[in-house]
Amino acid sequence: METVKYVLTEDRMPTAWYNIAADLPSPPPPVLHPGTHQPVGPADLAPLFPMALILQEVSTERAVEIPEEVQAIYRQWRPTPLYRARRLERALDTPAKIYYKYEGVSPAGSHKPNTAVAQAYYNKQEGVKRIVTETGAGQWGSSLAFAGALFGLEVEVYMVKVSYNQKPYRRALMEAYGARVVASPSEETAAGRAILAEHPDSTGSLGIAISEAVERAVQRDDTKYALGSVLNHVLLHQTVVGQEALAQLELAGDYPDVIVGCTGGGSNFAGIAFPFIGARLRGEREVRVVAVEPAACPSLTKGRYVYDFGDTGHLTPLVKMHTLGSTFVPSGIHAGGLRYHGMAPLVSHLLNLGQIEAVALQQLETFAAGIQFARAEGILPAPEANHAVAGAIREALRCKEEGTSRTILFNLCGHGHFDMQAYMDFQAGKLKDFEYSDEEVAMALAGLPSL
Ligand SMILES: *Cc1c(COP(=O)(O)O)cnc(C)c1O
Repeated sequence: METVKYVLTEDRMPTAWYNIAADLPSPPPPVLHPGTHQPVGPADLAPLFPMALILQEVSTERAVEIPEEVQAIYRQWRPTPLYRARRLERALDTPAKIYYKYEGVSPAGSHKPNTAVAQAYYNKQEGVKRIVTETGAGQWGSSLAFAGALFGLEVEVYMVKVSYNQKPYRRALMEAYGARVVASPSEETAAGRAILAEHPDSTGSLGIAISEAVERAVQRDDTKYALGSVLNHVLLHQTVVGQEALAQLELAGDYPDVIVGCTGGGSNFAGIAFPFIGARLRGEREVRVVAVEPAACPSLTKGRYVYDFGDTGHLTPLVKMHTLGSTFVPSGIHAGGLRYHGMAPLVSHLLNLGQIEAVALQQLETFAAGIQFARAEGILPAPEANHAVAGAIREALRCKEEGTSRTILFNLCGHGHFDMQAYMDFQAGKLKDFEYSDEEVAMALAGLPSL
């Protein structure tokens, strides 16, 4: 009963990204200009993103070709392995079959280079010299720093202060790749200074860091902004994950009954799930899809589905999404990558259509799941990925209770080698569950833009 690995040869790597917009029963609501409240056009977004990415953002073409240069870089670590977690199945004594797709084999240790490399490529193509971004736990910042190094682009990263202090090794990795890292909120931008004036001890949030990065990006013509999640083009780039998993499960002679992914902004979840949801939307195969989010930042399960800003400083366009309000500052849980107030518009739309389910889990359950997984499978998941592990374990235990066998697929979106302080704190009993404060969120929701 050993763990089984399903290897795809390089020639079976996807040559196109899958665009779920082609298969949706209705399109998601349009993105609105923050001033006029009218739908934005490509020209409105041009100061922020290269045109190729803006066109992908609004594309309804099912297959979007992956440039050969991007495929060549992907081949360094793709196709990533799919494993059957037989030892975990045995430890859980479940009749379920559990498969996981492992994205931790990328140079940065997560799924994020799948989009970082593509974004750096298109920026380089359009003559951009510098990319500015934000990062939570540092996974996105290190992925973009890696991609920037490959294409000779300068990378500047606004890192949420709580993670800057909790995860110094992620910062060191970004700097090793040549990026400049600034703790956010910072004194370097008007958005950062405004927050510090009001809350000098602010531990920061992704919403604040986005404001800082956007502000810096629009100041210079040779500089663009990059986002590591949420946007349609980011989710699009991640679909290599699910397409590979489909082919690997075919090798295994299997198909998932249920797919589980963790959701921060929604990109790794979309990456594994969208190709399967597409098959269901086209009437080919049934599948259940479960998004797992932290109870401390429960945008899908407790947020409202309304138009909101992507950032705290209200510099971004308005998007309709499940949101806790752009001023919401979540507790300092260790899954830094899941501490975002909003959710990808495409994922929000699918939840609203009843195409996916969502569940919120507490931090302690997710760490216990991560430890159990490591002891069975040997891989130590990132704290974010622990949410997917815990969600998959819940599904497997339900199979045991019901005495039914189901096939479970989850995305093990990254390893936790840079998150050992979190594991030390967990083992020492220092981590706690965070009750989501209804009061705080009511306040944040009160600041929603009126349309
Ligand atoms: C960034 C990150 C996440 C959260 O982002 P999504 O866009 O929701 O995937 C989850 N897991 C890991 C390992 C990450 O680096």
